[in-house]
Amino acid sequence: MATNSMGGSTALDRLRRRYETTEKKCPACGYVDHDANWTSRTDGRRVVYRHVCPSCGASREHTFRLR
Ligand SMILES: [Zn+2]
Repeated sequence: MATNSMGGSTALDRLRRRYETTEKKCPACGYVDHDANWTSRTDGRRVVYRHVCPSCGASREHTFRLR
């Protein structure tokens, strides 16, 4: 579900890609997730990127406010 009518999806995709490439390693257990299962959701005002470690289940979140 990468397409919607909102502008700026390219910037959001770039942000997500940044996490997928720079935050592969779980800070809790050190597991490196090569699939980088970051998910993103938005309520229109902010975007929340979330990753759940497949090894230990620790979750990380990054929240961005949209303008
Ligand atoms: Zn972990």
